[in-house]
Amino acid sequence: MRLKELGHDNFLIVDRNSYIGGLAASFTDEAGFTWDIGGHVMFSHYDYYDKLFDTLMGDEFSLNDRESWVRMFDRWVPYPFQNNIRYLPKQAAYECLSGLIKAQTGQGKVKSHKDATNFGEFIDAVFGEGIAKHFMRPYNFKVWAHPPEMMNKQWIGERVAVLDIDRALKNVVLESDDFGWGPNNRFKYPLKGGTGEFYRRMGESIREHIALDRTVKSIDAGAKVVTFADGTTESYDVLITAMPLDVLCKDILTGDVPDTLRTRASELRHSSGYMIGIGIKRPCPSTKSWMYFPESNCPFYRVTYLSNYSPYLTPDQSGGNATHYSLLCEVSESEHKPVDKDRVIEETITGLENAGLLEPGERDDICDTWLYRAEYAYPTPAVDRDAILSDVIPWLEARGIFSRGRFGMWKYEVANTDHTLMQGVEAVNRLVEGETETTIGIVYAATEDGREAAVHERPAHAGSGEKRLAGQAVEAKNAAAAAKP
Ligand SMILES: Cc1cc2nc3c(=O)[nH]c(=O)nc-3n(C[C@H](O)[C@H](O)[C@H](O)COP(=O)(O)OP(=O)(O)OC[C@H]3O[C@@H](n4cnc5c(N)ncnc54)[C@H](O)[C@@H]3O)c2cc1C
Repeated sequence: MRLKELGHDNFLIVDRNSYIGGLAASFTDEAGFTWDIGGHVMFSHYDYYDKLFDTLMGDEFSLNDRESWVRMFDRWVPYPFQNNIRYLPKQAAYECLSGLIKAQTGQGKVKSHKDATNFGEFIDAVFGEGIAKHFMRPYNFKVWAHPPEMMNKQWIGERVAVLDIDRALKNVVLESDDFGWGPNNRFKYPLKGGTGEFYRRMGESIREHIALDRTVKSIDAGAKVVTFADGTTESYDVLITAMPLDVLCKDILTGDVPDTLRTRASELRHSSGYMIGIGIKRPCPSTKSWMYFPESNCPFYRVTYLSNYSPYLTPDQSGGNATHYSLLCEVSESEHKPVDKDRVIEETITGLENAGLLEPGERDDICDTWLYRAEYAYPTPAVDRDAILSDVIPWLEARGIFSRGRFGMWKYEVANTDHTLMQGVEAVNRLVEGETETTIGIVYAATEDGREAAVHERPAHAGSGEKRLAGQAVEAKNAAAAAKP
């Protein structure tokens, strides 16, 4: 789309899928429920993205209040967890507060978040032992399917390093509620067709440039030729790819590719994910948006009341979800956390009962189950990730290959729909207009001995799940002004 806006017509987009949208696609099943590949919430950090959404969706969206909760100790704790410790049993609340104070005053296991060498130590340094034990460690293992010691701390960034102890204490002592939602936390969602409807419409607007069901089998980086599974070929000047970077380097690139590059890229880590949709023939019992599950009494780390996002996601097409509702559950998988595919639906239903989401007997009203497995679900921000990217990305770019996107760039902190779309827009702006990319957080510099080096900086934009930064609107506006919509 961006290429077209800049007046270019000579480009082709290929996808091996028969549909548009990749991991942001949605599916309506035979029972009439619409599902996303995991809970997709659009918190845009860019004016360009907002404008595109407005142009393509018009007024065909719903506006939802974020209402997120944590389920633990058989109760609902409002998110953010650290501001609502008062909801915990007294002993656990004491452990969390005491650990938080120790950590934030330099008396914890790890003296300062600056000393932390990995995400596990960062958790201890910032949140302290209590929150680490009750929430951060079990929850993060459930999401990432990797021990936090294998992960870096950079993806979280400095912004969460200092917590407001006074606020945490005040809320406990004065018994005040401190919910993380409200008017500033509204999010838009397509009225019909799920998250994927936005991408479907995007595809329609440049349909003549898109070839579906076309699988890339190999790329000769020297000759600049792509060969497809059906034996056909296309040559290119510049290639922008969103396929997983490890697969690209290991299995797809041919020609003069150093073995070390293939080995380096294959050291990138990821987790897989099962998305389990449960359709229920009952009116929705809750106004919640999504919920986090740190405990071991259920296999999922997150469940979304998807039908609360729009009245048109269940068979009750008249709107209003008067007769049906839907729960979308997410279970991670890796070599550190295996999942039995044949049992995951049943374990999910039992987990929903254990976690108090399904009432006794409610399983009899389940009228639909949907299962989707994403081999690549979360790009793990492992300790050595940035060093690997520093080796691999510049090598590819020197050959006209720009790897961008959730698994193309492998940076979870900028891997949501708005970030990945803007990675594409900014790559085009760089190639066509000579602009600097601001989302990927890679800066090229010369080392003292004159070599080229890729240095990682915290991206200039708020990360996945973070609020838009003050000043970002202005910065993004400038980019949008150049966008000639
Ligand atoms: C569980 C989960 C939850 C998420 N939650 C949110 C959220 O709440 N909010 C949000 O904004 N974002 C969320 N996202 C992220 C969002 O889905 C991604 O940002 C977006 O889909 C990434 O787009 P992409 O183009 O980078 O990659 P992808 O969507 O992975 O697209 C890559 C494309 O490459 C194609 N491809 C791969 N190999 C080949 C080949 N050999 N030949 C041809 N084509 C190939 C694939 O078919 C795919 O279509 C979530 C993602 C997941 C998995």
